[in-house]
This record gives sequence, structure tokens and C-alpha cells, in this order.
Amino acid sequence: MNAKKVHIKSFGCQMNKLDSSLVSNALKDKGYELTDQSENADIVLINTCSVRDNAENRVVSHLGHLKYLKKTNPTLIVGVIGCMAQRLGVELLAHPAVDIVAGPAQIAQIPDMIEQTLSDHKRTVSITDKIRITGTADLSDDLNDFEFAYDSDENHIHNQAFVRIMRGCDKFCTYCIVPFVRGPEVSRSPQAIIDQIKKLADKGIKQITLLGQTVNSYVFVENEKTYTLADLLEMASEVDGIEWIRFITSHPKHFDESILRAMADLPKVCKYLHIPAQSGSDKILKAMNRGYTAAEYLDFIERAKQIVPDIAIAGDFIVGFPGETDEDFQATVELVKKAKYKNCFVFKYSPRPGTDTDKKLEDNIGEEIKKQRNTELLELQTKISEENNKKFLGQTVEVLVEGPSKKSHLNKSDNDGNPQLIGRTATDYIVVFNGPESLAGQFAKVTITKTAALTLFGQLS
Ligand code: SF4
Repeated sequence: MNAKKVHIKSFGCQMNKLDSSLVSNALKDKGYELTDQSENADIVLINTCSVRDNAENRVVSHLGHLKYLKKTNPTLIVGVIGCMAQRLGVELLAHPAVDIVAGPAQIAQIPDMIEQTLSDHKRTVSITDKIRITGTADLSDDLNDFEFAYDSDENHIHNQAFVRIMRGCDKFCTYCIVPFVRGPEVSRSPQAIIDQIKKLADKGIKQITLLGQTVNSYVFVENEKTYTLADLLEMASEVDGIEWIRFITSHPKHFDESILRAMADLPKVCKYLHIPAQSGSDKILKAMNRGYTAAEYLDFIERAKQIVPDIAIAGDFIVGFPGETDEDFQATVELVKKAKYKNCFVFKYSPRPGTDTDKKLEDNIGEEIKKQRNTELLELQTKISEENNKKFLGQTVEVLVEGPSKKSHLNKSDNDGNPQLIGRTATDYIVVFNGPESLAGQFAKVTITKTAALTLFGQLS
């Protein structure tokens, strides 16, 4: 019998990409084939994101396409998994395309749910009821086993892998749905994490990225010892074969200096910090329940730069939060000028059903103003990045090569027919240069000859 074909489409953050990759590997292990196209598939899984309404709208439009596909392929099975599945649960079954609904804590059950639906053609839902009360801790063993069994180097960039160190979030930023769909913070045991890193290193992985919604909150108590992210960084540094260690994403509140010291002292830990500020206005930060003032955030950035020389810092901002006046936005502009980020990500506020902001505050900043503020902040950051990146001219940097550059305008070859490759420095700068494709997954030295806001260009040394 021909193997059933599965197509998985993933929206959203790195957590979702990791979940999709685990599910793909589990299904491959059970004899399914993966396909890039939903048109060829027997089973389509959409791993969803609920963080912005745009992401959910894209899922709804994708489901519309799948409903149409089901007309020509009535046996097609469609599963909605991830955050939107947890948020809407059984409501999703009202959509004529949907057969399976599984929340982020139920990823280990997906292969069985598919088997079941293939045999009885019944629609099925598995999510965590009352996730803030019941939590996901009792699923931890299943999830850990699933993670250990199906993590892989195959679905990631060459020789790079992501390792989840915790699930969920307890910060309750008022605009964010994550605590309600991913549940309370649950840290994995350091032993499970280190065993997984060792397994990945044995497969040739050179770089690992430790993942958590608020990764610096990692805490695990065992035999009366409390393990923190700083401890994990030290333990991961001792794994032979692992050369670079990253961690994302950090929250500015309660960021322990021991993590900065680990970054400064441990050569394998990359000097890169992604630490969202979200706003430079104290009024807006309070309304967001971020738990710090702009001054406290900037003090932290200064401290990080003192303790970890040459650290590269990336930020996130939300513009157009309810009640954000011109003065509030100017405070954000000032913060960006002072923080001098390597790069930053800017998002326009969109209300998320079920969050405090949506319940209590009117989305009263017009779309035009949101767009203007978004553009202004990005233009400012572009100037800062252009200026900052000039320091690399003439320098030789080490990169971990990801593979051929995907942007078509960059896909040129040099006189030797070498394609244009893309790599990243330990501090997360993107470097484009010509070189043999065999360098993918290897470290290389590149001398920088040209710089732009988002990219450094150079030649192999
Ligand atoms: S820290 Fe705030 S923004 Fe980040 S996941 Fe938690 S609640 Fe959401």
C-alpha cells in the first residue's frame, strides 16, 4: 500500500516550527511521507499562531482553500493544531474543512488522532481544558519523551537545532494570548535537556538554540539544587561538539546578572540577546503589565553592554497600543535611539480576544497612525543599523554557514561558479558571500567588504 502523504504548514514563532518538526518526524517514523504541497496530500496539518489577528486570518483563509480541495479529494483529513486550536477548541469543528483539533500540549497525540480519524472518519478534538488551572505539567513526561524521540537535525538549518527548555508563560502581558494557550510556565529537567543536546551533538549539530517564551525565567529544582538558565548554559557548554549556544526570547523583568556573566565567561555562549522592550512610555508599559519602566530597561541594556562587551541586542516593539499618544510614541523613539539595537522587530497592535487589553481597552489608534509609527520606527532602526554595521568594514568575522542565499537577487555566482551563501555570526549578523555549497553547516571566516542595514557582504578569507 502506498504511504499516506502529509503536508504540514506552520505559522508563527520558533516554538511552532519546532513542534511542526517533531510532528513531521513522528509521522515519518510511522510510515507517512511528507509533501510540500497540500494538493498532493492525504492529510494536511496547519500549525497555528494566535499572537496577532493577521496570523489567525491567514489560517482561516487557508482553511477556505482546504474546504475547496476537499471537494475534489473528499477523503482529505485536515488538522488544526497549535495555539489557535487551543484558543478555539471545539468551535473549529464548525468549519467544514476541519477534522482534527489539537492544542500545543497535545502534539504527542497527533499521530494517534490521525490514525483514529483515518479508521473511523470521526472528527476529534484534544486540548487542555482550563489550561491556566490544570496546567500542562502532567503532560510533561509525554512531551519530553516525544521531544527526545523526534528532535532532529533534518528539518532545521544545517547543523543547527532548537531545544525547548520550558513551556508556557506566567508574565501576563495584557495584550498577549500566550499564557492562555500555552499554559503556565513549566521548565524541563536539566538532565532531559542536556541528554537531548548530547544526542544532537552526536548527530553533528554545532549550534543549539535554547527556546522558551521567557527563557531567562527557566528554573528547575532537583535534589535541593535550583538550576537557572546560567547553569544550563554552563552545562550545555560542556557538551563536546556543540560550538555555539544561543537562547531566545528573554524578558527584561528579573533578568539575572548571572546569565550575563555566563555570556561573558563561556566562549560557546553567543553574545546575542533578544530582549523585547515593547514601548518606551512608562504609561504604556504599565498598561501592558510589562513590569519595568523605560529607565529600568535602559539601565539593564547598559549593564549588559558593560558585562558583555560587543554584545548584540535585538528588541521588539508594539506601536498603536490603546491610548498611545504622540508623546508616548516619541518616548519609544527616544528609547530606540538610546538602546542602539542591532535590529528590532516592530508590530502594529491588534486586539486578541480573551486578553485583558481587549476586554478593558478600546483599540482606539487608527490603522493609518499605526502604519506611520511602524514605518517611522523601522526607518530609525535602519539608520542605526546602517551606522552600526559600518564598523565591520575590513573586519574578518566567523560565521556558521546556513546554505545558499534564498533571495533571488543575491543568487549570483562568482567566477568559480560558487553560489552566494548566507551565514550568521555568533552575534546574529547576517553575512552573504560566495563559496562552495559544501560549506553549509560549517564555520567559515569572511572578510567584510560592504555593509547594509540588515546584511554584511564579504569574501571568504
Ligand atoms: S512575556 Fe508577555 S508577550 Fe511574552 S509570551 Fe509571556 S505574556 Fe506574551
